[in-house]
Amino acid sequence: MTLKYVEIATGLPIDRTFQYAVTGNEAYPAEIGKRAIIEFGHRRMVGYIVRLEDEPVCKDPKPVIDILDETPVITRDLVQVAEWMKDHYFSSWGECLEAMLPGVMKRGKMSSTSRIEEKQRPVEATTNLRPNQEQQSVLDEVAQCIDSNKHKVFLLHGITGSGKTEIYLQAMERVLAKGLSGVVLVPEISLTPQTVERFVSRFGDNVAVFHSKMLESARFSEWKRIKEDRAKIVVGPRSAVFSPFRKPGIFVIDEEHEPSYKQEDSPRYHAREVAIKRAELAGVPVILGSATPSLESYHKAVKGEYRLVELTQRIDEKKLPKVRLVDMRMDFDTRTGKVSVSPALGEALKRDIKKKQQALLFINRRGFSTFINCRKCGHVMKCVKCDSPFVFHKEEQALVCHYCNKRAEPPKMCPACGDDYVVYKGTGTEKVETEIKRLLPEARIARMDSDTMSKRGSHGEILQKFKDHEIDIIVGTQMIAKGLDFPKVTQVGVIAADANLNLPDFRAGERTFNLITQVAGRAGRGDLGGEVFVQTFIPEHYAISFAAKHDYHGFYKSEIEARRDLGFPPFVNLIKITTRSRKEENAMKDVERLAVLLREKPESGEIVGPAPSPMTKIRGYFRWNVLVKTKDVLASVGCLRRVLGAFRKTGGVFVAVDVDPMSLN
Ligand code: ADP
Ligand code: ZN
Repeated sequence: MTLKYVEIATGLPIDRTFQYAVTGNEAYPAEIGKRAIIEFGHRRMVGYIVRLEDEPVCKDPKPVIDILDETPVITRDLVQVAEWMKDHYFSSWGECLEAMLPGVMKRGKMSSTSRIEEKQRPVEATTNLRPNQEQQSVLDEVAQCIDSNKHKVFLLHGITGSGKTEIYLQAMERVLAKGLSGVVLVPEISLTPQTVERFVSRFGDNVAVFHSKMLESARFSEWKRIKEDRAKIVVGPRSAVFSPFRKPGIFVIDEEHEPSYKQEDSPRYHAREVAIKRAELAGVPVILGSATPSLESYHKAVKGEYRLVELTQRIDEKKLPKVRLVDMRMDFDTRTGKVSVSPALGEALKRDIKKKQQALLFINRRGFSTFINCRKCGHVMKCVKCDSPFVFHKEEQALVCHYCNKRAEPPKMCPACGDDYVVYKGTGTEKVETEIKRLLPEARIARMDSDTMSKRGSHGEILQKFKDHEIDIIVGTQMIAKGLDFPKVTQVGVIAADANLNLPDFRAGERTFNLITQVAGRAGRGDLGGEVFVQTFIPEHYAISFAAKHDYHGFYKSEIEARRDLGFPPFVNLIKITTRSRKEENAMKDVERLAVLLREKPESGEIVGPAPSPMTKIRGYFRWNVLVKTKDVLASVGCLRRVLGAFRKTGGVFVAVDVDPMSLN
């Protein structure tokens, strides 16, 4: 009997593996990426084999109890990616490996051979369009990488309608011809149904689709189709980057700048970076596509680390819509104070609706009034658990906390001083809807935000009605910012373009620029042309003025200089360490102790803070942050691991580490 040994990673949040012996009596032979049942302490649990060894590293390692899988559930390259992920994102082996599996496979809940019924989708076939010159030259370069098994990251910069998706499709065809597989990541499937449609219509059953609302059984069945190589193309959100391909051939990330590619909970990975890592291991190309590339990616492209390819024109040569900035400092209504819809936008809407055209109005907050305070003493109505201003929802007649969903009665008088001058300020979707109804009583208006969309299918229903022109105007949140392509939309209004600029976040400018660009792209898709009104209190801000001119390069130049001056990404990597506790002094005390320990170690990076999080309290927990700025993430994370490993937290304190955080909250 030949004894062999395996290193096993458990699902526990610890940064090490454990050695076990293989006796040969297991159901299946030991292989990297298979699940094994082990005894750990006095518990039985499922772990993952991440290494095979010939020699014992300790005296008499315990035997594994059994091996669960006939074939590995996690591919070789993904095991390597998991190892990189845990080191880069301050996570554990187990957390990273489990992020790669469908829910039903985790911790051995289902065997990899169980059968689940699949249903067929109706398919209407389409074929390749003849690429224009710009598309052809990109395709040639990508094809060369595919053919010669060469890793390269392409940053495909092109406005909406410039033909990016057609490039993805044809690159994918090349990949298929080579017998390889590929993934197309999209920010959110429900917001990009057209993209999915185009892949299915081109490649039929070869496409596996994932989305966030999918039943576990359906998710598992798609996962199995990929694993067994019955589906070679995957379209899905960030977790689709972990598709268990037999042989990856390409990784495409559409709208690569989207924050939804970053996972908010541990493992806090960024799907774009994981894709690049996987592609590097496989020696295959990556295409990052965007009309507004992230500063990080564009900077790398400028430095030559990525190959920058630009599509400079829309396929149909349609011009981008004219963007008008409306200075809201001028637009006061003398009777009622501020208005949300400026007279200029109001007039344009009246005119175009009369001409039987359509409009989209975008406002980034739901509810009616977003800020309620007492005019006498200044007291702000806030959620007690979250230290966040309550938002008044008129339809529901309630104050709602947008962090924890807590509800309260709208006050008759100020709870602090008893005065009855409580004023409702700020604008949400409900208020815009009300104002527009008053302004255009004959127009058919719908609201689209998560309040009206909670019913399954209501999203698609409204869009269908809009398409059939049973609705004239949609008022909505970012739900309406993406992907919508309706030829009769001639007016787009951005109600509060600077809402994000007030946030204490170094990406505020980038977010604002992206949002205006994206929303503006919804106007003038048809032959009727279109215009965009961008309402703002700071029209001179560069993020707004460059967006109005459709000038990404101008924006990039200003923004990159600001980042350089402030020492923010892409010039450093950030690591955000957050302590939270129900007792504020404990969160504060621990974060200060951590900062002191980190400052003693120069290899940890530059330590900034600690300071209270911009969201000082969420769901009853007080939060403090300390930031690390570093040029060597792996070294900093390693150092942080040692410091935190030896750190004795005060009771009731939690510590979270977010590498490359999306916000500083
Ligand atoms: P993007 O992904 O940049 O928004 P698309 O690939 O969706 O651009 O292209 C925009 C429109 O132009 C689509 O309707 C697409 O079918 C069409 N299109 C793309 N490439 C070509 C081409 N080479 N010839 C003709 N039509 C094209
Ligand atoms: Zn709350």
